[in-house]
Amino acid sequence: KSFAIPATQKAIRIHETGESLDVLKYEDTAVPQISDDEVLIKNKYAGVNFIEKYFRIGLYPSQKPYTLGREASGVVVQVGKNVQDYKVGDYVAYGSAGTFAQFTKFNPKSKIYKLPEDTTDEKLQLYGALFIQGFTALTFIEEAYKVQKGDYILVHAAAGGVGLLLTQLIKLRGAHVIATASTDEKLQLAKEAGAEYLINSSTDDTVAKVKEFTDGKGVQASFDGVGKDTFQISLDSLARKGTLVSFGNASGAVPPFSISTLTSKNLKVLRPTVFNYLVTPEEWDYYSASLKELVESGKLKVDISKVYSLEDYKQAAADLEGRKTTGKLLLKIPE
Ligand code: NDP
Repeated sequence: KSFAIPATQKAIRIHETGESLDVLKYEDTAVPQISDDEVLIKNKYAGVNFIEKYFRIGLYPSQKPYTLGREASGVVVQVGKNVQDYKVGDYVAYGSAGTFAQFTKFNPKSKIYKLPEDTTDEKLQLYGALFIQGFTALTFIEEAYKVQKGDYILVHAAAGGVGLLLTQLIKLRGAHVIATASTDEKLQLAKEAGAEYLINSSTDDTVAKVKEFTDGKGVQASFDGVGKDTFQISLDSLARKGTLVSFGNASGAVPPFSISTLTSKNLKVLRPTVFNYLVTPEEWDYYSASLKELVESGKLKVDISKVYSLEDYKQAAADLEGRKTTGKLLLKIPE
């Protein structure tokens, strides 16, 4: 098989940072040139993640112009001469910067799944949606706080992309999920994913509810991707020796805090990122096999709530940042 590779492609890029979605440009750019160790992937679906906002507004640094996107599924269209394990025509899903584009160059040593020859469009959607949020939920419940049977665990924004996956995996471990979300409709989704206790973060007092659900003891861990607005709520919800896994900034970055805050209950606070748990070949092999088994067996469901075209990423970002979405959003990449 061989593919004609054009000189230019469509991509979503930023030339400057800004709160405004207008800094997002859908534009023509050069197709990347691969090195001998890389493959060129023609993307089919790219997953939308909240992290794109942090790059857009400059909370996380980037070199401009910067192509957004962190994960995709697609097909290999060119192979560097040192690459042994991939050939033109292979279906893949992978985690990399620069996936909101028709083509991405990638070194396929790790952070890539080779998908079977008979991969359907549905599977390309699933694997394009799975990478970042799937590995985040899976590694965090194992490494950031190792969830045990019988634990009570607080999951913030439980109807979101990461939230629905965390809820399912924590439930699979035999622990009790206390879910928060901003609307009752969102809470219903968290319940369907396995949450036993529901807190409407717009109307309920989260800390008081957590105390009520845990006999006054608090939770063993709080998984908190909301950040600024919920940092103190998370700490106040923890049981003695509890762990706050603070892993995102959906409401803004957590401001500096005094370490002595932790002494009253001997608490732990972590601020992990998913790819720091997928560094060694052993880590990659273990977690990639485990995640694949979970989705292929149907034990872990990925709720793709909407597929936008690449051109409409601005709308997807507006919906996600405006708290209008649940589950996972995908971008369909034009042919
Ligand atoms: P979500 O689908 O969870 O969307 C974010 C959700 O956060 C919203 O739906 C909303 O739910 C809630 N939220 C609360 N306050 C705000 C606010 N002020 N503005 C917007 N949303 C708010 O997104 P993702 O699943 O992509 O990501 C969830 C979090 O996990 C993000 O912070 C992300 O950066 C982080 N993350 C971190 C990783 C890491 O390695 N550390 C990896 C992957 C994700 P509601 O309306 O119910 O409150």
